[in-house]
Amino acid sequence: EKVIHLESISKNYRVGTQVVHALKNVSLDIFRGEYVAIMGASGSGKSTLMNIIGCLDTSTSGSYILNNRDVSRLSDNQLAEIRNKEIGFVFQVFNLLPRSTALENVMLPMVYSGVRKNERKKRAVSTLTDVGLTDRMLHQPNELSGGQRQRVAIARALVNHPSLLLADEPTGNLDSKISEEIMKLFAEIHRKGNTLLMVTHEEDIARHAHRVVKLKDGEIESDVVNPDPVY
Ligand code: ADP
Ligand code: ADP
Repeated sequence: EKVIHLESISKNYRVGTQVVHALKNVSLDIFRGEYVAIMGASGSGKSTLMNIIGCLDTSTSGSYILNNRDVSRLSDNQLAEIRNKEIGFVFQVFNLLPRSTALENVMLPMVYSGVRKNERKKRAVSTLTDVGLTDRMLHQPNELSGGQRQRVAIARALVNHPSLLLADEPTGNLDSKISEEIMKLFAEIHRKGNTLLMVTHEEDIARHAHRVVKLKDGEIESDVVNPDPVY
């Protein structure tokens, strides 16, 4: 079952009179339950690809089918609705609300998706427990370590049960020991059947994914199954 079907996706950026070809005829399928790392040098098109897959931007040409729905040419409002329903985002900078507790941060996406208030709290508590933050739910981000903040962000990304978890350099702000703990959590999330797609430029992080796609100058340079994932 395909979650993502990209067919001949190109993305051009116009900068003054110049045109940058950030993606050139990229085709890629990702199936339910896969754990994929996207790698590539700076400028190779990783962010552009993630923005398109995450429905934050649309391609210049080509088609994008997300869960059997063509999302290639939707309006901004339609894209926002799909993002809220289908996609959980995890960033390098955790993007948490600074004056809200971990619990409130995790409850917020459910406000937008229309979950009832009692239900919101129950689900947020349960998701925070899943990511190992049982005793930190009432702390604000500045009272949490980097690794704990990322766990809050991961809980927030998962709480609406998205069909796809997108992580952009999820360990970019964490030291190697904490990064490994986050990778353990990703492995657990993957084992539960979630589909994970993460961008990283670190080999040590990519080794955790079960498939590695490398971009070079806006094209897929290689796409291989990881013969020996860490977990
Ligand atoms: P990566 O994430 O791998 O560093 P990007 O997707 O950010 O790569 O960039 C791919 C190419 O597109 C680069 O040449 C970059 O300069 C260019 N680019 C990215 N975003 C924009 C933009 N908003 N406007 C113009 N050029 C852009
Ligand atoms: P709206 O367009 O309805 O205001 P939001 O900006 O709240 O939508 O974003 C909807 C979803 O997209 C949220 O899940 C949010 O985490 C994600 N999102 C918003 N901005 C970015 C961004 N710059 N990069 C990646 N994801 C984003």
